[in-house]
Amino acid sequence: MNKQDISSIKQLLSSKKKIVIVPHKNPDGDAIGSSLGLYHYLTKGQHQVQVIVPNDYPSFLKWIPGSDTILKHDSQTDTCDDLLKDADIIFTLDFNALHRTGNMEKVLAESKAMKIMIDHHQAPDDYAKYTYSDVSMSSTCEMVFNFIDLLGDADIIDSDIATSLYVGIMTDTGSFRFRSTTSKTHTIIAKLIEKGADNTEIHNNVYDSNSYKRLQLLGCALTNLKVVPESRTAYITLSQEELQKYDYKKGDTEGVVNYGLSLDGVVLAAIFIEDRNEGIIKISLRSKGNFSVNEMSRAHFEGGGHINAAGGKSHLSLEKTVEKFISILPSYNKALNDE
Ligand code: 5GP
Ligand code: MN
Repeated sequence: MNKQDISSIKQLLSSKKKIVIVPHKNPDGDAIGSSLGLYHYLTKGQHQVQVIVPNDYPSFLKWIPGSDTILKHDSQTDTCDDLLKDADIIFTLDFNALHRTGNMEKVLAESKAMKIMIDHHQAPDDYAKYTYSDVSMSSTCEMVFNFIDLLGDADIIDSDIATSLYVGIMTDTGSFRFRSTTSKTHTIIAKLIEKGADNTEIHNNVYDSNSYKRLQLLGCALTNLKVVPESRTAYITLSQEELQKYDYKKGDTEGVVNYGLSLDGVVLAAIFIEDRNEGIIKISLRSKGNFSVNEMSRAHFEGGGHINAAGGKSHLSLEKTVEKFISILPSYNKALNDE
């Protein structure tokens, strides 16, 4: 996004517009935080703004200011489709290709609205009139901050915008510890705290609101943890039965994959989660150093993401998916052991 683009967008936003903001399916902290941060910012400009998520999101994000205004496409499809068809501008946040919105793909592709992409994933598709894509960014929330700043409006950031953006930077950086965290990230975080983001309260709301069952599910996941030492790899499985036993709710498995990566010497961690409703195994991959799980996911698991964090899926059974994973590891042994 160059200076010319910014002045065109500034011009565009100088009159009242109907705006829809859409993040990816199974939205996480960065998807919801960036959507609500941008929502609060645009609402200040008198626009008519609506956030539409493809499907539900974890309850540990439902306290964020404005979350009660979000519409869910899977349960409010007609209302959402009308808004999408009627919109002047659609912002697409935290994803690189329209299929990442699941069933919203078609209505988004067909909508005549001007599309603006803000995203930090690899390989952005070319569907937007304006594309702000930067894989070096910690989070889409950091990019939304930059976007507001580029438009010359950093001064009007209030506590709702600051709180929303803080959430996504915190969750996508693993609380400011991943390599994508830069001094610039911390400078932005400092500004968000100055503008009213309560860092302790935000952290508590997101990470310290566990149910007893969720901790027991974590216990089950850790019991299932296996290590493949020659590939410096750890993986976890969770079957549908195990999820049911511990009363699984959306978001309960968030972050569990990182326990594998916390093992000394491990550079690749995976979690395989059975979803019989969708008929898939949902896969999350994490790595350390230069080993690209984005590449691994694209090549073998119909997914993608970033170098050190990617996701994908498999249509095989849980057991067969794990077998496949183990069978491809040797071809990565050199890269894994070079880390
Ligand atoms: P997670 O493992 O937390 O679901 O996702 C890790 C990263 O990979 C996130 O940036 C997410 O957007 C991306 N990702 C997760 N699942 C998929 C997928 O199925 N396809 C693609 N392209 N990216 C994914
Ligand atoms: Mn993100």
